[in-house]
Amino acid sequence: MVFSALAASLAELDAQGLRRRRRVLESAQGPRVRVDGRDYDAFCSNDYLGLAGHPALVEAACEGAEKHGVGAGASHLITGHHAAHHALEAALARFSRLPAALLFSTGYMANIGVATALIERGDAIFADRLNHASLNDAALLTRAEFKRFAHLDVAGLEKLLNASRARRKLIVTDAVFSMDGDIAPVPELVRLAERFDAWLLLDDAHGFGVLGEHGCGSLSHFNVASPRIIYMATLGKAAGVFGAFVAGEPELVELLAQRARSYVYTTATPPLLAHALLRSLDLLAREDWRRAHLARLIEILKEGLKVPRWRALPSLTPIQPLIIGANDEAVSVTAALAREGILVPAIRPPTVPRGTARLRISLSAAHGEEQVRRLVTTLNALGD
Ligand code: PMP
Repeated sequence: MVFSALAASLAELDAQGLRRRRRVLESAQGPRVRVDGRDYDAFCSNDYLGLAGHPALVEAACEGAEKHGVGAGASHLITGHHAAHHALEAALARFSRLPAALLFSTGYMANIGVATALIERGDAIFADRLNHASLNDAALLTRAEFKRFAHLDVAGLEKLLNASRARRKLIVTDAVFSMDGDIAPVPELVRLAERFDAWLLLDDAHGFGVLGEHGCGSLSHFNVASPRIIYMATLGKAAGVFGAFVAGEPELVELLAQRARSYVYTTATPPLLAHALLRSLDLLAREDWRRAHLARLIEILKEGLKVPRWRALPSLTPIQPLIIGANDEAVSVTAALAREGILVPAIRPPTVPRGTARLRISLSAAHGEEQVRRLVTTLNALGD
């Protein structure tokens, strides 16, 4: 009985064109990848600066393993908090220009940890409708009232805040939206947080390393600061390695270290990763040419793409979505690109709203201009 229910669920995913298949990557992440025995131009990772396979980071990871071993061996509050973690937290706070930072194993865990440490039943969470799944899951786990506002709708959020009698309020938003590539109106959100005595949890998974001065992220992009901001960024995207951190006021960070269950009750990440991340931060800060090259690639894509039957979103970030609409058409465009040796993922519901299946083209500083031009020509031919 239970097994036939599983089979029925899988058959339903098949019928709706929503069954996903894992590709097996046989090379390092990069602008060219080998998948299932074939080489492709890849426009499907979050490795925006091309650091995931960078020789200096590979070398730092090996050096980190020699120095610190492979496993952390314990959680941070027991004996797993290594010198490399400690140094990385200080470096992340400096890099983000915030008073203090706390490392988490993943962005998913960081979002869950923050929300559940600060908010409980009787409080309220206000969320953009297109927020990442981890922020939604975090909100549900708190058992607080969960209010969602239309995408980027500051006036809608203001109304919800005005009507709320909750004891504590938390506004949560992606800073750069993961499937749309657009940027949240951070200064307006900060003003509302201040006016309504709320926290603002800003998820900069896709802005960290990419936006702002020397890649410092969305806060630098907007030149905003406020003690109400709880800044979360991930380290497995532009930073090229793995992990996440939360930064903000020292009391906030200390409270998270005491209370965030996804921090307290889990093994610390291998310190060799923290060692590699210290090198990565150094590259992020020094190599502005990566962001300049990325900006040029974004321009080439946006100027060249002429596909009237589909809709390119007005994103200025390396996430460049092309809305196709129907699930099966999105899948067939992805398959046609793959036949041409180009990998672009089709993103379908429930990751994106129904009827907005899309190609999520992601650009990287490791791409060459020629690669992007070939993608544009191939898409233009397919969308003609
Ligand atoms: N927030 C956003 C906006 C994301 O896109 C992601 C990852 N896709 C996460 C959080 C989760 O980060 P991690 O992969 O480190 O768990």
